[in-house]
Amino acid sequence: MTTFTETDERQELRRQVAKLGSKYGRDYFMEKGRAGEKTTELWLEIGKNGYLGINIPEQYGGGSGGIGDVAAVCEELAAQGCPLLLMVVSPAICGTIISRYGTEEQKQRWLPGICDGTGTMAFAITEPDAGTNTHNISTVARKDGDEWVLNGRKIFISGVDEADNVLVVARTEDAPSPSGGPGKVKPVLFVVPTDAEGFEATPIPMEWTSPELQFSVFIDDLRLPGDALVGDEDGGLVQLFAGLNPERIMAASFSTGLARFALEKATAYAKERVVFQGAIGSHQAIAHPLAESHIEIEMSRLMTQKAAALCDAGDDLAAGEAANMAKYAAAEAACNAADRAVQTHGGNGATQEYGVAGLLVATRVGRIAPVSREMILNFVAMHSLGLPKSY
Ligand SMILES: Cc1cc2nc3c(=O)[nH]c(=O)nc-3n(C[C@H](O)[C@H](O)[C@H](O)COP(=O)(O)OP(=O)(O)OC[C@H]3O[C@@H](n4cnc5c(N)ncnc54)[C@H](O)[C@@H]3O)c2cc1C
Repeated sequence: MTTFTETDERQELRRQVAKLGSKYGRDYFMEKGRAGEKTTELWLEIGKNGYLGINIPEQYGGGSGGIGDVAAVCEELAAQGCPLLLMVVSPAICGTIISRYGTEEQKQRWLPGICDGTGTMAFAITEPDAGTNTHNISTVARKDGDEWVLNGRKIFISGVDEADNVLVVARTEDAPSPSGGPGKVKPVLFVVPTDAEGFEATPIPMEWTSPELQFSVFIDDLRLPGDALVGDEDGGLVQLFAGLNPERIMAASFSTGLARFALEKATAYAKERVVFQGAIGSHQAIAHPLAESHIEIEMSRLMTQKAAALCDAGDDLAAGEAANMAKYAAAEAACNAADRAVQTHGGNGATQEYGVAGLLVATRVGRIAPVSREMILNFVAMHSLGLPKSY
């Protein structure tokens, strides 16, 4: 039977996570960010309560739930003002790929730490010269006896300083193409300890305040044992793609959570602030944009839940389309909600006290990462509408 309400369990999960998130809240999150500190106690508490690894099989410390559950956790925390990028990365991308393609020994080694928060894993695919075109990555993995040797550069890698390991996407050495360019990319995935020799991470100064930092990473003749390779070296794109739908669904829930947070602040202010007769929210110029945001947020949530349900049902193809659309809609809803929240607050919209201007950058990033709005539009134009490939 098709139903448009979440299960009682999922609704209860949302309530419990919202309660936990509200104990910390926006002020805690921003104070940590401004002080250059981490939200470790929040992270560990989510882990201890079983929310962090809720999508990971029980025998490895998880909750045996689905991506919809961990997305609900991410959304509720963001809605309390605590958006955590590492939730997108560690349990959803890395946790999914390792659960699906890791050996039994690898699952036992890495998944429990991802679940309880003591062994966070970052994810590194983006490179300075490849950017959006991830087929063009040049981080190379060379086999040397039983070991692998990695060389390359990564950029915008979130949370390296909070992670014990990074799941690094490289390419195997391949014969050059007839045109002399590099051969067809054969992605391979490695779990790289952040304290490995030959691994160097430098924070990138960003124009946003968050306890979570982004890093450039240099990988220089980094040696790894054979069992650092996750999946088959000839497994190809399919192993990497296992993490992409979860990534998009989580990014969507991150954005809808932030959008809800912005809208709630704006609505509360619009009910209280009086400058002519009545509260400013009685003027349609203020009320209608907020009502539009509510509609956009609800539509994004519905699409995110659809994408999660398809993903959890194993329908990767349909989930791919829905996850892309959910991520697009959620990022747009979040940007609009943040902009409207600032406008509703007037001058207070730019003050630290009211804390809404900072949401402009935090939500804006959702239009770029982990996949840009343009690439989603390319995907929909090509796959949903059958238009010619444009790139
Ligand atoms: C806060 C943050 C956290 C991140 N965390 C991680 C992480 O943990 N791990 C990781 O691997 N990466 C991470 N990223 C990187 C992110 O995934 C990339 O920034 C994103 O994929 C875009 O790549 P780029 O920045 O190189 O932009 P570019 O590829 O240089 O693109 C620039 C612009 O051109 C547009 N464009 C490019 N090609 C086309 C085309 N064919 N058609 C239409 N438009 C096009 C893009 O949409 C974009 O608007 C993060 C980024 C940010 C900002």
